[in-house]
Amino acid sequence: AFANTPEPIADAIFALTEAYNADPNPDKINLGQGAYKDNTGSPWILPSVRGAEAKLAQHPPGHEYLHRFGHAAFRRLSAEVAFGAGSRVLAEGRVASLQTISGSGAVHLAAAFLHTLYPNSLVYVPDPSWSNHRVMFEAAGFAVRDYAYYDPQARSIAFDALLADLRAAPAGSIVVLHACAHNPTGCDLTPAQWSDVASVLRDRGHIPVVDSAYQGFASGDLDADAHAIRLLLDELALPGVLCQSFSKSMGLYGERAGAIHVVVHGIAEPAAVVARIEGQIAWIARKEYTTPARYGAELVTAVLSDPGLYAQWREDLVTMSTRLRTMRAAIQANLRELRAPADDNWDHVTTQIGMFWFSGLSRPQALWLRRERHVYLAESGRVSLTGVNEGNVRRLCEAIRDAVEQ
Ligand code: PMP
Repeated sequence: AFANTPEPIADAIFALTEAYNADPNPDKINLGQGAYKDNTGSPWILPSVRGAEAKLAQHPPGHEYLHRFGHAAFRRLSAEVAFGAGSRVLAEGRVASLQTISGSGAVHLAAAFLHTLYPNSLVYVPDPSWSNHRVMFEAAGFAVRDYAYYDPQARSIAFDALLADLRAAPAGSIVVLHACAHNPTGCDLTPAQWSDVASVLRDRGHIPVVDSAYQGFASGDLDADAHAIRLLLDELALPGVLCQSFSKSMGLYGERAGAIHVVVHGIAEPAAVVARIEGQIAWIARKEYTTPARYGAELVTAVLSDPGLYAQWREDLVTMSTRLRTMRAAIQANLRELRAPADDNWDHVTTQIGMFWFSGLSRPQALWLRRERHVYLAESGRVSLTGVNEGNVRRLCEAIRDAVEQ
């Protein structure tokens, strides 16, 4: 038994982290996984989350199972973070919300639920995207296609090609969109471009699946970063799915706090449909893991239900997003000072946004940096800015200059 177990598929980003961990060099730099670190390179527990921890220590919520839909207050408050407290879809009861095993669990449940309704639809993911999008939708049984997103030569969004691909997709396709801070490119659509995309989605009857893993990380502002969510799923009344993660926005990576929100439009009395959707998704979860995890949801709820902690959280998001923007500026300034050659003189470092710098470094350059300089970035050239700080940015830029000058 078990001897025939085949070799597992090696996930590139986990392999990179393992290689980094195994490197004994004290000056190694970790630019792999997107997990926020402070300016000393240490994980950062958000002050708002520390406040929530203190509150829970005073009033322990216990360890009973959660309801099969998840923590009731968490479901309501997380929806309000995404759609806005005064949103129409929430007021009209158009949103089926369930707590999930963070954003990954939300994407998985979105895929599994949609497959029960539309097994023959094609799923479109941006080229490039978070690699797990394709993996998870294929695992649910879908055929997955790319739509044009990024033009590496122009270092910007290939918007005409993007619209053309979405127009050419069979009517009723499922389209995965990043709500903000696109991973890995750091390039988001403008509000005008979102409106154009929304028109195509509506004309073609496509179903948007909006993946929101970085709300507050793009601009530092929760509402600005929810523009696409609110435009598509509320204002323009497109039926669709929102996958929401608190991993990055509250620094709760290992606690697995997230939600899936399915938005129902075109039905005057949505309550019965919303209830059926919640029941169906909970049944999928029942077959897999029964109920979601408690502590992360308690922390998120403690932050969101306390005006003081909520205000602190908004500040924490500004702290994190500002530090990453400062590091972009430092990288750009150092590379220019070191006269590292680049077709755009490194303009793109600061025009991109969010947690990642899509550097344009080639696979051989990334491998050289790893081997020769102990700098660990993805082979796609994606740099997680979370590993950059004032103590290592100069050395990093010298290494990058040497890599591009070779
Ligand atoms: N979606 C995107 C686009 C992501 O980048 C990530 C995390 N890297 C996730 C979803 C899921 O993260 P988590 O499961 O930790 O919420």
